[in-house]
Amino acid sequence: MSMQSTEPVVEIKSLRYRYPRSERWAVVIEALEIKSAEQIVLTGQSGCGKSTLLHLIAGLMNPTSGTIKVQGTNVHALRGSKRDRFRGRHIGMVFQTFQLLHGFTVVENVYASLMFSELPRRAHRERAMALLETLGINRPDARIQDLSVGQQQRVAVARAVACAPSVVLADEPTAALDPEFAIAAMDLLQDACRSIGAALICVTHAPSLIERFDRHHRLEDLVLDRSAV
Ligand code: ADP
Ligand code: MG
Repeated sequence: MSMQSTEPVVEIKSLRYRYPRSERWAVVIEALEIKSAEQIVLTGQSGCGKSTLLHLIAGLMNPTSGTIKVQGTNVHALRGSKRDRFRGRHIGMVFQTFQLLHGFTVVENVYASLMFSELPRRAHRERAMALLETLGINRPDARIQDLSVGQQQRVAVARAVACAPSVVLADEPTAALDPEFAIAAMDLLQDACRSIGAALICVTHAPSLIERFDRHHRLEDLVLDRSAV
């Protein structure tokens, strides 16, 4: 194995986050490392900071203190468009409500995420269509709002993996689906991450999904020293 592959994809140290005007820490994590292509699941009661943590890793919010490195880069040291470009290349996201671009088509939603990829522009259509086919989406020109929730979830997965990120962050990615579809949807997400060698950090409420991951952490257990809070 090369040195690079043993380096963590995500490395969190002494992370604290408090929302403005809030009196409590929304996130406290002493240390967390995710290795290349590893798939981990995070659980914890509602309000324990799971979504906040994913937003911090994605560089959508800045920690109050502590550091988060993705592929060895301190995301929060990057400013403006540099951070957007870094996120676009290295981090894929699947949100609970998908947050797809309504009014646009399926394939246009995938193009949006290829914007920062190293793939030349002329290869975007082929890449997007191949991905959509793999994920079983046969209506690339349908508008997002005309799709079922299950199909939207697949598009969200396609968008998250399109630029071959090193890590995919998924916030309760099956919460909007009927339980009988949750396992198949999680399969799709996990397979998509494996096929591009991306690590996966998934937040879920569904206990039945936990055993499918390499590692499980309860967010509360990542706080080693509460007295220091
Ligand atoms: P989870 O995803 O685990 O349910 P969140 O990360 O959404 O938890 O929230 C963690 C804590 O931060 C909760 O106590 C929540 O009330 C608080 N919180 C979330 N978003 C905001 C916000 N925009 N402003 C202030 N407090 C917030
Ligand atoms: Mg949440």
